[in-house]
Amino acid sequence: MTAEPIIVARAGDGLVAHFPDLVSLGDGRLLAAYREGTGHLGPHGRISVVESEDGGETWGTPRVAVDGAFDDRDPKLARLADGTVLLSYFVIDWSSRPRHTTHGTFVLCNAKIVEASRWKAGREGCMSVPDLTGDVKRAGRVVVEAVAPGSGDRVSLTTDAFEARALQHEIDHCAGKLFLDRVAGAHAIYQRKVYL
Ligand SMILES: [Zn+2]
Repeated sequence: MTAEPIIVARAGDGLVAHFPDLVSLGDGRLLAAYREGTGHLGPHGRISVVESEDGGETWGTPRVAVDGAFDDRDPKLARLADGTVLLSYFVIDWSSRPRHTTHGTFVLCNAKIVEASRWKAGREGCMSVPDLTGDVKRAGRVVVEAVAPGSGDRVSLTTDAFEARALQHEIDHCAGKLFLDRVAGAHAIYQRKVYL
C-alpha cells in the first residue's frame, strides 16, 4: 500500500519552508512550526505554525507566529506537563559585522608586523613540511605594514583570526622560519593525517 504524501503547509509566495518541528497537543491534535524565508540564510526569516485536529491527516491554515525585525529561525516546540506549549527560536541580525576579517587575495612586499595581540595556540601545516602539523602560538589580531608591489605605496593592514595566523606564517617564511621553529616542543608536532 502506498500512501499519498500529506502536505502540512506551503510556504508563502516567493518563500521556502525550512526546519520543521512538531508536537502533540493530545486528543489527535498536532502543532507544527517552521521557518519561512527567501532562502536557507537571509535577513527576513519568520516562523509560522499550523495545526491538525485529526492526527495529521489534514492541516489548517498556517499562521505567522513570529516575524520580528531580524531573521527569526530554527523553531523548536515543546509541550510541558501542564499543557503549556513552548516555542523557542533564534534571532540573527545578519547586518552585524562578521566575526572574522578577510581581505581576499593580496600581495605585500617587506611586510612587517607592527602590532600583535590575542595570542592563542592553533594547529598549522605547511607546503614546505608536508608530512607534519604542529601547534603554534600566534597573535589572533595583527597590524601589518608593508609596501604595495608596483606602486611602492605604503600599506597598513589590520586583520584577525585565520588571516592573521596565515600572515604571520608567511611573513616567517620571508625570514627563513618554518612553523617547526615556533612549536613549543616535540610534543606539539603531529604526523599529518589528511592531505588536501
Ligand atoms: Zn608555509
